[in-house]
Amino acid sequence: MSFQPNSPAARDVAYVLHPYTNARAHEENGPMIITKGDGVYVYDDGGKQYLEAMAGLWCASLGFNENRLVKAATKQLETLPYYHTFAHKAHLPGIDLAEKLINLAPVPMSKVFFAGSGSEANDTAMKLVWYYNNARGRHAKKKMISRIKGYHGVTIASASLTGTPVNHPGFDLPIAGVKHTSNPHYYRFGQSGESEVDFATRMAQDLETMILEEGPETVAAFIAEPIMGAGGVIVPPETYFEKIQAVLKKYDVLMIADEVICGFGRTGEFWGSQTVGIKPDILTCAKALSSSYLPISAVMISEDVYQPIADQSQDLGVLGHGYTYTAHPVCAAVALETLKIYEEDNILDHVRAVSPLFQERLHALSEHELVGETRGRGLMGALEIVADKGTRASYDPKVGAGAKAGAAATEHGLIVRAIGDSIAFTPPLIITESQINELFDKMTKALDDAAGAIHKAAAA
Ligand code: PMP
Repeated sequence: MSFQPNSPAARDVAYVLHPYTNARAHEENGPMIITKGDGVYVYDDGGKQYLEAMAGLWCASLGFNENRLVKAATKQLETLPYYHTFAHKAHLPGIDLAEKLINLAPVPMSKVFFAGSGSEANDTAMKLVWYYNNARGRHAKKKMISRIKGYHGVTIASASLTGTPVNHPGFDLPIAGVKHTSNPHYYRFGQSGESEVDFATRMAQDLETMILEEGPETVAAFIAEPIMGAGGVIVPPETYFEKIQAVLKKYDVLMIADEVICGFGRTGEFWGSQTVGIKPDILTCAKALSSSYLPISAVMISEDVYQPIADQSQDLGVLGHGYTYTAHPVCAAVALETLKIYEEDNILDHVRAVSPLFQERLHALSEHELVGETRGRGLMGALEIVADKGTRASYDPKVGAGAKAGAAATEHGLIVRAIGDSIAFTPPLIITESQINELFDKMTKALDDAAGAIHKAAAA
């Protein structure tokens, strides 16, 4: 494609290296330029409206024009636009936000460490786990276990924890000491005749086998999203986390809940941990913490994790970790206002009120000829396109079934996320029932449109 000289598209292709983008395809096709947002909708530079069924990257929980957040940012920018929290310094937004998070935590937590992104939060969690075990004299207990298709970020450590297919090849990852255990996707990996509960037992046995093979004295922590997001919206099988946590307890392995997507109401409880029964020692969160209007993330640690860390910082003189933007006051002020809106507008009640319709409309799509499985909780869901509903066989990846359905959705003014042949939906939490109907009406049309192209590509 040729672009108008000096147009935004031409300049984008000329200057921007895009994340999670095929760079050559981008040179050819150019960008989709989004220029403004309004509630659950965004608009492109041609004025076309899209229902943003992914809230951006599973994150803009309050939609795309919450003015209270603009005001909170402006007020803080005018008062104290920047200050840090190194070396005993503090500021009110940081203190208030930490206190608020501790009060909201799903289990008793002791301290909050702030960072700028989900990746940094998980990196921090991993470093704190190492620091903690060093403090306890357990110098060999450092390995981290995550899951195949788990997503925890893209920094060197967090990308190593991530277990999705594109994050390791080409980057010489994962780093040593990070292991990936089985993906608890019952529809895909449950064996014939195996119940969901038996599958969960097998998943926990896989974890135990891995811990025993590695040596329990070398395994420090297990990290998991309550419901896997970028891995395809994988809802854990019944009894899964109960059994997983029993194994972790047995071998003195810490549980880290990655609440970067699930936190703040997404699953119909305030935390995904509450939806699936996780009692974390460490919890990481980001995204909806500030409705993503400004970048901020948090790591919460329990008192038992904190105490050795505090001792170690005294022995070493200082906790040698922290970012320039740790607890950035403007980001913290926006996060505080976000949490206030969740409370004042009863966002959790709203999610609980509208999510039955969301789940009903999602599951109704399993009737569609292309759809093998639908899965989800709260305002989080996915459908999986299959070539054969009976055998659950997938299309050859060359068919690009998911991408075709995603592109058809875009045509219909609906932004979804194609993850392989799964299509994910995590709209802003403020979505109304009529907008949920609009979302799934559009998706149904998109699947109808894509079916022909998918069958044709599969036959070719
Ligand atoms: N954890 C989870 C569960 C995520 O979904 C993401 C981002 N999609 C991350 C961590 C990484 O967050 P960030 O992109 O802000 O680094």
